[in-house]
Amino acid sequence: MEKIFQYIDQHKKEYLDELFTFLRQKSISTRDEGVSECAELLAEIMKKSGIESKIYATDRHPVVYGESINDENAPTILVYGHYDVQPPEPFELWESDPFQPEIRDGKIFGRGTSDNKSQLFAHIKGFEAYLRTQGKVPINMKYIFEGEEEIGSPNLEVFADGHKDLLKSDAAIFSDSHVHESGKPMTILGLKGMTYVEITLYGANRDVHSMKAPTVPNPVWRMIELLSTLKGEDGLVKIDGFYDDVRPLLDLEIEAVKKIPLDKEAIMKDLGITKLVQNRTGDHYYYNLIFEPTCNIAGIFGGFTGEGSKTIIPNKVTVKIDMRLVPDQDPDDIYEKFKKHLIKHGYGDAEVKHHGMITPSRTPIDNPYVAVANEAITDAWGEEPLVFPGIGGAGPNYVFTRNLGIPCIVVPFASADQNNHAPNENMSVNGFMNGIKTAASIIDKVSKMRR
Ligand SMILES: [Zn+2]
Repeated sequence: MEKIFQYIDQHKKEYLDELFTFLRQKSISTRDEGVSECAELLAEIMKKSGIESKIYATDRHPVVYGESINDENAPTILVYGHYDVQPPEPFELWESDPFQPEIRDGKIFGRGTSDNKSQLFAHIKGFEAYLRTQGKVPINMKYIFEGEEEIGSPNLEVFADGHKDLLKSDAAIFSDSHVHESGKPMTILGLKGMTYVEITLYGANRDVHSMKAPTVPNPVWRMIELLSTLKGEDGLVKIDGFYDDVRPLLDLEIEAVKKIPLDKEAIMKDLGITKLVQNRTGDHYYYNLIFEPTCNIAGIFGGFTGEGSKTIIPNKVTVKIDMRLVPDQDPDDIYEKFKKHLIKHGYGDAEVKHHGMITPSRTPIDNPYVAVANEAITDAWGEEPLVFPGIGGAGPNYVFTRNLGIPCIVVPFASADQNNHAPNENMSVNGFMNGIKTAASIIDKVSKMRR
């Protein structure tokens, strides 16, 4: 790899120049600004790097697909990324033009730098560097870059289901999010899922004078009683069968989590709290964060919220609840169990709305491609990554693990202060260069895997 890494270092300026052209091309998916132009530019960049590319239309923004098929008997890696970006507003908080990238203090500033253009670009250049130095790439590479991630990837699953042969691979790898706060590289093997519900309870057909409180039912009190049936003081969710499908953890997964550096005091100080929630499995912060499914009250609205006092019995109350799920809880099944719970406890009259769901995903830590990714990162960054069996957030990794049936490994290149979605989004030049090296090293390590 030494020779390839040297080549990559020597081409830093060209990489940055080409990346800047890519960054200057707007691709704001929320308002259809420049997205298809960006797809064309990306397809061009891939071609120049030795990847055959093709643009596929979807219902909204196109998918840019690419491949380099070299050996039928060799493994195939599928690289995912997204070329769309968040809107740049508010402009006045940017220190430089969001679409005129510039480097300050070792960071590239601009919209889409870390999320996700530089990170996917690093994979393309890693491939190119391998090809240019070795003459040929011994494994098969496929690339799927969508233009809709920032609007919730409405067509990613549809595209994957409709192109299973095209996307057939042995593992999916992508780079989004950021490395650990400490600057240590990391791999992320899973994301939580979600079932989001809204429940409304009604009382009288209008707000009623509170002198009638001894006689007219108050839906807010009823909601409080309902909510208290959902979760115990022990932190356990009390919905029948809620934990039935939670996948047992591997010892290696528990060990990996124990290795993640933790400063509980700093976390509490940052949030201005004196206590963290303890769950059924103990009080290890990362264990809870990664492995515990939740039933969280995201909002509660009802009755008089104005200034001063007003004496009423509110006629309705609404609560929004997000349940973050872990493998192999099924979001639809959890929704059904939630509704049954309401009926069982006498709230069958509650109005229930379902606001979307995401399937959880976790690639087992002992999957051979996880080892490959970890070794490649160690080569490129000069230190071993922290391995996160999952993170608290939810996302579309299940499209790879469930729909395509392959392991999915996230190898972030951006730093923790990337400001994604915010003004002054940035990507560290060092992370970008290490990303190119990681991508090249992945090809090398996969080519040496025993099948
Ligand atoms: Zn984003």
